Amino acid sequence: MEKILICEDEENIVSFLKAELQFEGYATETAFDGTEALQKFSQTPNEYALVLLDIMLPEKNGLECLREIRKTSSIPVIILTARKEVFDKVAFLTAGADDYVTKPFDTMELIARIKRHITRASEAHPLETKLQISPEGYKAKINNQDISLTKTEFEILNYLHKNKNKVKTRQEIITAVLGDFYGESNIIDANIKNIRAKISYHTNSQIIETVRGKGYVIRED
Ligand code: CA
Repeated sequence: MEKILICEDEENIVSFLKAELQFEGYATETAFDGTEALQKFSQTPNEYALVLLDIMLPEKNGLECLREIRKTSSIPVIILTARKEVFDKVAFLTAGADDYVTKPFDTMELIARIKRHITRASEAHPLETKLQISPEGYKAKINNQDISLTKTEFEILNYLHKNKNKVKTRQEIITAVLGDFYGESNIIDANIKNIRAKISYHTNSQIIETVRGKGYVIRED
């Protein structure tokens, strides 16, 4: 049974969602604030098929939670937003949200969206993910769909792709991509986070793997 993590602080919405989702055959887990949401997710990330994430959550808000989840996972995330809230869609999409619905929501529509995202995620098999790079035009495609990257993001992806199956340190990436750069070395992490967010629109498999304490690698047979 597919399990959905509901992150929402309004109890009436939570009990409504639980009832509706269980009726549709889903298991549910609930978190009433951002910290609890991240705790529950990080304990058993593979247990969940999808996350419903409210924007205005106590402790950590929805955007902070989303960014945290995206560091390790490409699980489908649907944002829940109240109509009156000023909602920066671009920030959420850039951070890797798959979709959003406005409260009060149409139940049938929400269920349809949930089903679609779960199906899509389960269909996107890692082995089917194909990365194509054409250095001339600074263009990259994932599964035949264009990814819109900044110049630096493109060059990092291109460098790792050219050196696939070799783990590259942050310093090696900086030297190759930025040359004589005297800023913070976490510029690479920040760029890779953005690349991952952009790739996650098209596939739930992560192309760039983090090798703890070493660097990054793109593995391909
Ligand atoms: Ca709320």
